[in-house]
Amino acid sequence: MPFLTQLADVARRTGRPVTEVGGWKTRGHGPQPEVRGIVCHHTAGPAGGGDYPSLAVVRDGRPGLDGPLSHFGLGRSGGIYVIAAGRCWHNAPSTSPRHDNSSSIGIEAENDGSQPWPEVQLDAYRKLCAELCRAFGLPASRVKAHREVNTSKPDPHSIDMNAFRAAVATLINGGPVPAPGPSTPSWTEEILRELPLIKPGDDNFDVKTVRGCLFARGHVPPAAYAGIQDGLEGWLKTTQCDNGLVELVRGFQRAEGIDEDGLVGPATWGPLLRV
Ligand SMILES: [Zn+2]
Repeated sequence: MPFLTQLADVARRTGRPVTEVGGWKTRGHGPQPEVRGIVCHHTAGPAGGGDYPSLAVVRDGRPGLDGPLSHFGLGRSGGIYVIAAGRCWHNAPSTSPRHDNSSSIGIEAENDGSQPWPEVQLDAYRKLCAELCRAFGLPASRVKAHREVNTSKPDPHSIDMNAFRAAVATLINGGPVPAPGPSTPSWTEEILRELPLIKPGDDNFDVKTVRGCLFARGHVPPAAYAGIQDGLEGWLKTTQCDNGLVELVRGFQRAEGIDEDGLVGPATWGPLLRV
């Protein structure tokens, strides 16, 4: 992949103001080899100082780390700064091969690391991620917080990444975007509440969804379907919530650190469906 000179046009599709920082089209540690993920950061810059006081640092680097540090800056007012089209030093070492410097785009949002996020900035953050996903053919699941792909990092602080990704997914699909507030449940919580409770002895098609999700999450060992007609296929088609399934649900709950009650309710549907 060459220098990503389309980034400013992609950013403009958000409808937010876009500033093309001089020289961005040829700025980078060489060209960008590929784009398989997006990493969200906060700058940890000063608490004041205008819309994007960290611009010089993200563009030029800091002692010990040469710039550019990220492709995009995101101002407090939701303005987008296009800083580099080539590879940036924003995530090394990475725990994800899709989110290291050679395979991902970095966004550095202005925030001192503890101050509240203005809604206008969060809105632009979600829209920029959605447009990037669209442009590079990525699902919302490829949008990660720096702290999710580098265990020694805290950023971006206080953003619920599951809710963030759910909103990005809605934007990618062109739907309306709710603004979850602290007192109102997010739409993902509402959807989870509407999903059926699956309990031992149930016999319905939703049980097959539980089986499919458990298998997709790697929680169905071959022993679970060894004695069943048609093997795995037969096991996945079984509509009954039998003892074997309940034990697998408990194992999943144990692995996720949630209550091991063997019931599939909102707390279990969430991680099962990865919303
Ligand atoms: Zn970071």
